[in-house]
Amino acid sequence: MSTFKLEIVATDKVFFRGDAEFVVIPALDGEMGVLAGHDTMVAAVKAGELRYTVNGQTELCAVGDGFAEILGDRVTIICDFAERAVDIDVMRAERAKERAEERIQAKKSQIEFVHSQAALARAMARLKVTSKINKR
Ligand code: ATP
Repeated sequence: MSTFKLEIVATDKVFFRGDAEFVVIPALDGEMGVLAGHDTMVAAVKAGELRYTVNGQTELCAVGDGFAEILGDRVTIICDFAERAVDIDVMRAERAKERAEERIQAKKSQIEFVHSQAALARAMARLKVTSKINKR
């Protein structure tokens, strides 16, 4: 199967760099599957599930907001965070979700609301992918 260069860069690390066969990106308007030879484009990425396939093996991950650039046979994803589903601490994500929901309910300042919504989206992305691997 044809491959392309995939680079996934989070704010704190280069999460993945290598040749991939397929990547599914959580774009703003839904999941976007990319194979080698995809048209050139830029897409906004929203916190959610990202999957990429290398040597027939698919890695399930959670990523944060960012953007993706598809250029020739190179796909670059720059995002807030990137974690493999198997590395996610479910309890921590559940606590983060509860904290964010409490802060949203408390209806404090607008800035607090925006931060809490972002924290909630990160926690939900983590919980979504871990629910698929039955991690407890
Ligand atoms: P929390 O409130 O639990 O810290 P957060 O979304 O605010 O969640 P950050 O403080 O932005 O997390 O993340 C700090 C580091 O911890 C990052 O490297 C991130 O990938 C990692 N991280 C955050 N939550 C989890 C989790 N549930 N499982 C594994 N790693 C996590």
